[in-house]
Amino acid sequence: MSAQIISGKDIAADIRSELSGEVAKLVAETGVTPGLATVLVGENPASQMYVGMKNKAAAAMGIYSRQITLPIDTSQDELLGVVAGLNADPAIHGILVQLPVPDHIDEGLVIESIDPLKDVDGFHPMSVGRLATDSGEFFAPCTPAGVVEMLVRSGHDPAGKHVVVVGRSNIVGRPLASLLIRKAPGGNATVTVCHSRTPDLGAVTRTADILVVAMGRPEMVTADMVTPGTVVIDVGTNRVDDPDSEKGYRVCGDVLFDEVEKIAGAISPVPGGVGPMTITMLLSNTVKSARLATAR
Ligand code: NDP
Repeated sequence: MSAQIISGKDIAADIRSELSGEVAKLVAETGVTPGLATVLVGENPASQMYVGMKNKAAAAMGIYSRQITLPIDTSQDELLGVVAGLNADPAIHGILVQLPVPDHIDEGLVIESIDPLKDVDGFHPMSVGRLATDSGEFFAPCTPAGVVEMLVRSGHDPAGKHVVVVGRSNIVGRPLASLLIRKAPGGNATVTVCHSRTPDLGAVTRTADILVVAMGRPEMVTADMVTPGTVVIDVGTNRVDDPDSEKGYRVCGDVLFDEVEKIAGAISPVPGGVGPMTITMLLSNTVKSARLATAR
């Protein structure tokens, strides 16, 4: 029997429609339009594409979006000055500096310069610490927050389940584990985190009720690593050569979809899975930030 397909595309569309309503309500009740600023240094085509998608999606739901594109030779001080200006700007509730920044700029310093109250990417150490200690208001990083939303909205609440996360990066695996063990909606799971030093990966992944894979290794998780009935979320986004395709490549996940789909209980595809959720959670964080600002 084939698995239930967990469509991030469909779930993201539902959330975006809810958010549009929330934006309209906020504007009507408080006169405040949520504002998102994206800052891009240089002309990396992938970064340009991501920033463009974020701004387009924001505008589509009534969020004010401001894109600031700076030349590649922008100095660190100049960039910090731009962020300081956005921190002080009441029209802006969310600030996103598109990563990576050029090598001559200290990425950590830039992230730390963002006002934690506007840190809609959730990468500021204050946000990371609050998530890790499950205390106070914070913005959860967008990709892991999207994974949790996908699970809950598709009827696979992680509470009480054993979730195996493959990958321990600061943008996906690690914050996802923190979200899943929170004593809060979307949390209360028992979590195991695997990485490249995990000796027998399959032995661990087979123990999962829910398996989330964020390795950046194309189609590495095969059917023999998954127990029948497992819920599988594939975060991986990889470009692999494909001479049969017009573009010469195809996009695939870290899970061998055709094989695993036949035995999993549910599975998210790539593309159309976690990808659309990431931008949606950024918009959700921006609306949340605006709402919190009006309450202060
Ligand atoms: P990183 O390269 O930062 O981290 C990969 C993790 O996977 C590391 O913890 C690494 O272990 C682990 N890993 C690598 N190889 C193995 C292996 N053979 N066995 C077990 N663990 C392994 O990647 P990211 O977290 O940034 O991204 C992961 C994937 O998710 C990528 O494909 C990326 O494109 C995608 N992604 C998709 C997003 C979306 O919106 N859809 C957003 C962000 C990422 P170790 O720590 O030991 O090196």
